[in-house]
Amino acid sequence: MHELDEAIRVCVKCPLHESRTHAVPGEGPVPAHVFVLGEAPGAQEDKKGRPFVGPSGVILGQLLETAGLTRQDVYITSCVKCRPPQNRTPRTLELDACQENWLNRQIGLVDPKVVVLLGRVAISRFLEEGGLRESHGRTVERDGRVYLMTYHPAAAFRVPETKDSMRQDMAVLRHLLASA
Ligand code: URA
Repeated sequence: MHELDEAIRVCVKCPLHESRTHAVPGEGPVPAHVFVLGEAPGAQEDKKGRPFVGPSGVILGQLLETAGLTRQDVYITSCVKCRPPQNRTPRTLELDACQENWLNRQIGLVDPKVVVLLGRVAISRFLEEGGLRESHGRTVERDGRVYLMTYHPAAAFRVPETKDSMRQDMAVLRHLLASA
């Protein structure tokens, strides 16, 4: 994983490298039971080169606690490793480049039992996304892993009730891990 991290830090495979301060490879134990996948680094992450160290990270930490986990227990990364300008949604070409070159290899190395997909962009890389209001908390088993759909923590800033739904989803995660 160390070699992969180093390669990600100097990646120029898509235009997002032009505006980044630091690429954000990801962090956590390898292997790990849980792989948490966000969308893209934000301003704090770009500054520090670490995933979920801004406001969304605070919420993510609280949610993981609900599942009986801490940040140190899980591998955390995002679909793209460089912050998109003005935090815009990553484009398909950027997402494809990052997934083919890095994300799929990270998942292979971490070899998680559960992949937690945070929000629409992460979900759409692996599953059909049919509207989070219906699909949050649902799981899909594929290639020996369970994919769990939930909201992106940033959604809680726009709609505070989303946090209740995410807590329910973390209870699903807790059950999955207890029965694994
Ligand atoms: N949001 C993400 O999806 N990833 C981060 O690293 C930070 C915020």
